[in-house]
Amino acid sequence: MIDDAANIQNGATFHTDVCIVGAGPAGIALAMDLSGRGLSVMLLESGYLELDAKTQSLYEGEVADERMHSPPDKYRQRRLGGSSAIWGGRCMPMDPVDFESRDYVANSGWPISYSDLLPYYPEANALAEAGRFSYEASEALGPQVAPMIRGFNSPKIRTTGLERFSCPTHFGTRYFKRLQLAPLIKVWLGANCVRLGLNADGRSLQTTEFATLSGNRFSVSARATVLATGGIETARLMLASRDIAPAGVGNLHDVVGRYYMCHIAGNVGTLSLKGPPSNVLHGYEMAPEGIYCRRRLSVTAEEQRRRGLANAVARLHFPRITDPSHRNGVLSGLFLARKLISYEYGKRLNDGNAATLGTYTRHLLNVVADPLDTSAFLAHWLTKRTLADRKFPSVILRNRTNRFSLEMHGEQTPIAESRVTLSDQIDPLGMPKVRVDWRYCAADIESLRRTLDLTAEEFEASGTGRFEYQRETLEQDLTRFGAYGGHHIGTARMGHDVRSSVVNADCQVHAVHNLFIAGSAVFPTSSQANPTLTLIALALRLGDTLSRRLDTRRLSRTEKAVA
Ligand SMILES: Cc1cc2nc3c(=O)[nH]c(=O)nc-3n(C[C@H](O)[C@H](O)[C@H](O)COP(=O)(O)OP(=O)(O)OC[C@H]3O[C@@H](n4cnc5c(N)ncnc54)[C@H](O)[C@@H]3O)c2cc1C
Repeated sequence: MIDDAANIQNGATFHTDVCIVGAGPAGIALAMDLSGRGLSVMLLESGYLELDAKTQSLYEGEVADERMHSPPDKYRQRRLGGSSAIWGGRCMPMDPVDFESRDYVANSGWPISYSDLLPYYPEANALAEAGRFSYEASEALGPQVAPMIRGFNSPKIRTTGLERFSCPTHFGTRYFKRLQLAPLIKVWLGANCVRLGLNADGRSLQTTEFATLSGNRFSVSARATVLATGGIETARLMLASRDIAPAGVGNLHDVVGRYYMCHIAGNVGTLSLKGPPSNVLHGYEMAPEGIYCRRRLSVTAEEQRRRGLANAVARLHFPRITDPSHRNGVLSGLFLARKLISYEYGKRLNDGNAATLGTYTRHLLNVVADPLDTSAFLAHWLTKRTLADRKFPSVILRNRTNRFSLEMHGEQTPIAESRVTLSDQIDPLGMPKVRVDWRYCAADIESLRRTLDLTAEEFEASGTGRFEYQRETLEQDLTRFGAYGGHHIGTARMGHDVRSSVVNADCQVHAVHNLFIAGSAVFPTSSQANPTLTLIALALRLGDTLSRRLDTRRLSRTEKAVA
């Protein structure tokens, strides 16, 4: 059942097996999983299906440097489905190497391995509507599949890894009916968690308190409570609940909110490939089950370990849009239309330099000089993106010159100084707002520099092309748009040591036996991978943990599948 919390009587207390706070992909996946195992679930979501301005404003806060990190009410959606309402749908699992403790990536190492998560990835893939859990080109697309770059066979750089694309699935609309009809799930919309109420010794959560914007307050008492409020808000809730634990819930060792990560992402250099454009696959391919897939370049795990490189991928990308010297009508059209594009997607079309009249004129001339490509692009976009259920994922241009920039997406070192704290400002519900101070370190840039150098060497050695970039501007190129927007990682990291982590391998807050966290807040490192598929897999794994821990007529994952 789905109901509006405004209808709850002021002062009411509810009892349930599991209380899940936040109905984004993590909260929704977990609720559906648990209800299939005979546990009663209350899913409490701040927003509604449609975006509501007053609710969204509860996400407002401060950032240390707006060039480096967007304001916290951008790149997040406070509504049923969470940020999946606007995500890009790019899915891929993390790599086994991501879970290892690597002496060349400070503070790395998960208390679980890739094989612990592997059983949950296929279901996560299905929930994200990304087709089969198959991320190798020959397996996913068929053995006869063409190489990404003909003639490029490097033992050090892989070209066979794939990313797959969700519709992109909006978890709020897609699973609305399922949530509504599930007999053991009760969803409250407009329910804002405002306090985690610990018992007197601080070892268990007694109640979780909620407020509506209409002024009602109520609480939920559960055998287990899960925070699934996203990587920034989870830290906020824990830090703000400080009546029993003065430093905040689970924060005895000052780790909550620290080690905050996004991804280092930017377009770098020029890869000039030999031969005809047909030698290169730089766009989307279709898996047999109708899922868009795309190849990318990545350093093999062995080579990462040997050279001490953090994980990163590179996609073949078009030149920098803002610079009209690309003379491409479609790119110039995008630049000119950037104000019509949402903040989250328009941001990377604006590099912060005020465009001069001359720049606008040159972009306009590009559009006028390229009418055929521009109109073909518009027709394609309308039919394959705007009007399609499964949307063409992003702008891909015909490449007549075989010259590309590399779009880098790399993990960043978890550093304690990069953090989410509370500001002095209070929101309309009396909650302290957040302050986000995202940082990266020199090792992140250095690792990407060496990854690019290796890439250049391998292209040179293969005789298929040449990669060149400007060393002096590399850091600027990689941080031009600041942190990669929608990935909020690491603020309640997982680990064995209570002094350097917040949750254990079961995603349970160390000191609090019935409080758990679902979402990318628990990732100790950020991987090259976008986070959502992994955070859904972790939520499903948490479903197993909770059903094991709570004494019910639970169904195991296999029994559930058979039922
Ligand atoms: C523009 C954009 C593009 C993206 N593209 C990709 C992509 O291609 N691939 C990928 O893997 N990821 C992508 N992401 C990231 C992806 O959206 C997130 O990883 C994912 O939504 C996180 O899921 P979640 O359930 O952990 O958190 P959220 O989606 O943030 O959901 C948290 C939920 O908690 C609710 N909530 C918050 N505070 C409270 C409170 N106090 N009380 C009650 N409820 C509360 C919120 O309303 C929300 O519904 C993108 C994000 C953005 C913004």
